[in-house]
Amino acid sequence: MNSYQKEQIEALSLVQAYLANLALDARQALESQIADYLLFRDDVDAFLDAHFSDVCTLKCFKSKISACCSRDSIITFFGDVVVNALVTPEEEINALRSVLQKPNKGFKCVYLGKQGCMWRVKPIVCEMFLCKSASEEVLAPKPEAAKTWEAMQQRKKLFTWPDRPVLFDDLERIFLDAGYSSSLMYMHNSPGLLRIKKQAKSGEQ
Ligand code: SF4
Repeated sequence: MNSYQKEQIEALSLVQAYLANLALDARQALESQIADYLLFRDDVDAFLDAHFSDVCTLKCFKSKISACCSRDSIITFFGDVVVNALVTPEEEINALRSVLQKPNKGFKCVYLGKQGCMWRVKPIVCEMFLCKSASEEVLAPKPEAAKTWEAMQQRKKLFTWPDRPVLFDDLERIFLDAGYSSSLMYMHNSPGLLRIKKQAKSGEQ
């Protein structure tokens, strides 16, 4: 297990431990809290399916390149882990744990399984990544689609960019308040993101 896998499994374990001890009403409150984000993710999925599925299937999936998933340590926010854990059955979480415990000998992401990504709600960095070739082929000739994609990038920030209260920051706070801490809590440990929060508080932005 490399350091990335260790960090990932630690975050996953503490999210599982927290959720396992949560009363039903508290879990339901957490599920309500992520509901708007899941709607946003559905919209992005629908957009990607409508505009990119043909080109991505042909260029990457059939040729087994899976270029978007070729990095072995993709950034995952703590919020990504929480959202995915809330919508994923235990056996699938255990499958994630299982791949994290094996050495990743390839050059691809540890979470890339035979059927594609093993996450139900993949990390936001992955969801919003479009390779240059796909962007040029699909968005360049379709200004309306390019505009919609830009609007989705802005919508993403409403959940993840802490120049205002955002879901990903709130989720970290909930776990911190309960005594759980993870190195993936970038909203609370990344100097850049902390600076944005500070500037937002002091009205500099
Ligand atoms: S987490 Fe999933 S989508 Fe992201 S790089 Fe890994 S396999 Fe690909």
